[in-house]
Amino acid sequence: MLDVYFGTDYHSHYGYPSSTYAGMNVEVMRYRNGAALTRKDGIAVDMVAGIPDSGVGHAIGYSNESRIPYGRPFIKYTPTWSRSFMPQDQKIRNLVARMKLMPIPELVAKKRLLFCDDSIVRGTQMRETVDLLYQCNAREVHIRSACPPIVYGCKYLNFSASRSHMDLATRQAILELEGHEPESLQAYCDPQAAQYQAMVDHIGKKLNFSSLKYQTIHDMVEAIGIGAENICTYCWNGKE
Ligand code: SF4
Repeated sequence: MLDVYFGTDYHSHYGYPSSTYAGMNVEVMRYRNGAALTRKDGIAVDMVAGIPDSGVGHAIGYSNESRIPYGRPFIKYTPTWSRSFMPQDQKIRNLVARMKLMPIPELVAKKRLLFCDDSIVRGTQMRETVDLLYQCNAREVHIRSACPPIVYGCKYLNFSASRSHMDLATRQAILELEGHEPESLQAYCDPQAAQYQAMVDHIGKKLNFSSLKYQTIHDMVEAIGIGAENICTYCWNGKE
């Protein structure tokens, strides 16, 4: 019998594709999650792609369900680099991220591209990636996040707990929209609320995306398939 499952992040981004947690294989969950993303999307693009590595499974699920071709408009080159958000200095993180992704101009120029990423934490690396694609003459770059907006810093896992909540793209957007930290963040966690939509639009514009959408907690939990009452969702809705 499960208590609370703290491994949603393993399914959406940290887990190795061949691993299985809580009875659900990581890669299978990503296909299911990407398929759920496209069912409520309906955008017209030329190619679906994944931000390597963990965005790939979500993008394959999105592509298979939408029947929009999957492609690799850039290739990851990582002979020595580990995960790029680990260096403490933001400039070094951005440099590493830029060195890791090599665009293929023939697959980018004049194309409407949709990328699935596992999540958007700070968003700075994604902004650099999108700028690189525009330098290669991409026509549109749409971003789909495989998990909901991260509104609260994690307080349960050591490797996630290092995130300062004010580093989060959501909290910066909320501060810029409101001019101060609001007493409650609940409206920013609710996809039906105007505040949520304003926050998502603000992040998308700031990061130079043609459009931005996030997965919902409901659909992500469905993709894992073990029941919302068993899953930690604190960083997406503040529920302890
Ligand atoms: S707060 Fe978020 S990152 Fe931390 S354990 Fe829960 S789901 Fe994972």
